[in-house]
Amino acid sequence: MEKVIRYKELERVMNKTYETKNLSWLYRILNGEKEVSDLSEREFWYTQRLSGGMIGNPCERKIFYQYHQVAKASFSGRMYRLFDMGHVIEQMTLANLHACGIDVKSYDPKTSKQFRYSMYNDKYISKVDGISETGLLSVNVPVVFEIKSSNNKKFLEYVSKGIRKVNEGYYTQAQVAMDLSRFAKICVFIVVDKNTSAVYAEIIKYNKEFAHQKRKLAKKLITNPKIIPHKTRHFCNYCDFKKVCDGGIPDQRCRTCGKYEWKDNTCKITKEDCGFGDPCENYVLDGIYRTGLLG
Ligand code: SF4
Ligand code: SF4
Repeated sequence: MEKVIRYKELERVMNKTYETKNLSWLYRILNGEKEVSDLSEREFWYTQRLSGGMIGNPCERKIFYQYHQVAKASFSGRMYRLFDMGHVIEQMTLANLHACGIDVKSYDPKTSKQFRYSMYNDKYISKVDGISETGLLSVNVPVVFEIKSSNNKKFLEYVSKGIRKVNEGYYTQAQVAMDLSRFAKICVFIVVDKNTSAVYAEIIKYNKEFAHQKRKLAKKLITNPKIIPHKTRHFCNYCDFKKVCDGGIPDQRCRTCGKYEWKDNTCKITKEDCGFGDPCENYVLDGIYRTGLLG
């Protein structure tokens, strides 16, 4: 396990500087002048791509089900409010970084959206909260930023044990971001305490071996046509895919259809890209969901 590198210099600067005038651009974003994660994304509950946030889940079967759209993900209103709060904190933290004179870019000028990197035919992706091409403070190399918020109990755990020990999923997300960006070998990982507004910052270095293991896993889950990973039984009662995992019939989607070409996301009949995965009248349930491999 690598050493935790706490980025106290950044914490000190951020805690010292906070100019509210720099928040004006945040309110412009929140008022809809720029696209942030908005309501339209909420209505689309099937996952199109395998993201850095998903690949770190301890249950490989769950990642497989999510990518292959066997069921819709569902979130309660409370969860949506939590996500929204996370977005607001993220924007405030970016404003805080700007106020400190740190050159962090949070939107790709070419798309006016978050910076986004991908591989495997755009099916394995990472969206990062920010990038700095020149680095920041004493770190003079390009970096990507991940910004999270947590309750006080978890925050104190991050401070005392570091990100990886407390949340392997976050560590994975940081590694995938660096791996897919291909330019950053450092991720500045910032956590804001929702109770006290304290900031914890850590430098996570690129771990090529780990990142490439995740690449391999992503490729297997996206393209391997005939193997559903074993059950991991990790928080199964909260899993959106439990019904299918226990032998239920998956939703009718191109990705659960026997005519779906897993390698390149096309239909074997039309030879066309399956796009968002809406099925047609020729849908037929893929045999893997009937062969007793589930178990
Ligand atoms: S129900 Fe449990 S074992 Fe099945 S996919 Fe979900 S987390 Fe994994
Ligand atoms: S047959 Fe229809 S449902 Fe099946 S993969 Fe082709 S387009 Fe999708």
